[in-house]
Amino acid sequence: MGRRIYNFNAGPAALPLPALEEMQSELLDYKGSGMSILEVSHRSKWFDDVINEAVERTRRLLGLGDAFDVLFVQGGASLQFCMAPMNLSLPGRPVDYVNTGAWSTKAIKEARIQEKDVRVVASSEDRGFSYIPGKLTPSPNAAYLHFTSNNTIKGTQWAQFPDAGGAPLVCDMSSDFLSRPFDARPFGLIYAGAQKNIGPAGSALVIIRKDMLERGPKDIPTMLRYTTYAEKNSMFNTPSCVVIYVISLVLKWLEETVGGLEKMAEINREKAAMLYEFIDGSGFYRGTADKESRSLMNVTFRLPSEDLENKFVAEALQEGLGGLKGHRSVGGCRASIYNATGIDAVKALVQFMGEFERKQG
Ligand SMILES: *Cc1c(COP(=O)(O)O)cnc(C)c1O
Repeated sequence: MGRRIYNFNAGPAALPLPALEEMQSELLDYKGSGMSILEVSHRSKWFDDVINEAVERTRRLLGLGDAFDVLFVQGGASLQFCMAPMNLSLPGRPVDYVNTGAWSTKAIKEARIQEKDVRVVASSEDRGFSYIPGKLTPSPNAAYLHFTSNNTIKGTQWAQFPDAGGAPLVCDMSSDFLSRPFDARPFGLIYAGAQKNIGPAGSALVIIRKDMLERGPKDIPTMLRYTTYAEKNSMFNTPSCVVIYVISLVLKWLEETVGGLEKMAEINREKAAMLYEFIDGSGFYRGTADKESRSLMNVTFRLPSEDLENKFVAEALQEGLGGLKGHRSVGGCRASIYNATGIDAVKALVQFMGEFERKQG
């Protein structure tokens, strides 16, 4: 096997090694089928078990109970920007949005394209999306309140979810889904592109409260209706079988090896604390997000100059630390430390950052 690097990519991102190894070990002959899981029918018993396991593990990890459906929808988180207002808005009532960055902005745009009555009830745009807004004033009769739980590009995260004043929460949880436990009850819809924290690219995992399924008007095309997915266990048409399979392996690792979301959250807090403490103690690196809004998943920082940033990213890669370049829209550096990026990786990064600083300083 070639050398595996410490992977700090923002997405597609690191996957847990035990999940990859399990995939490798059963790649050519999936559970005695004589085929790989890439080759079996989605109508087979083998795949039925895979998708049911992915759904059941999601339910158990979050304690969802019977009030929610777990769906897999292709088109990534970006298609959810469109499907959420299409299915969940209500005639004559506004939809509330909180704007905390590029992904929220895109979600707002998709609702506006559909001529929904969009109210941006809070925004952090005034200071370059470097913080999570404090108190917000929801519209009294909003159909829902949409927010982005973790802002992958700017490195901010809601430590506590917003209060929608009784309206269901609709959340883009792409980059911190299953990184910590939370109470699902205030949520009408949660969606997450798989490629950040739970699997490879090619599907969004969608959690919808069952009563929300009744909202969709009759003129929505079949493939854009949540009910189509809910009624057919996400198999109205061929789903992204391999993605769902890898998700099931990642969730198995999360449940059985890590030991659940409390444990995962503890590890994630420890990783982020180590990195932020190092950054704060250095006069060389500078965090870009307000301290109280910092993300435990995407740690964004700058060096004294762009030249040094480029050098930092290149030398880090030579040392086996990959994916540290910031998003192309904002520059700088970013270490994405999702569930699958271990404490060992963060320790190696902190050590490298210290050495790099000493060499330049
Ligand atoms: C990556 C990301 C998206 C876009 O996901 P796609 O699956 O590529 O559509 C949306 N929202 C957030 C928060 C993200 O991190």
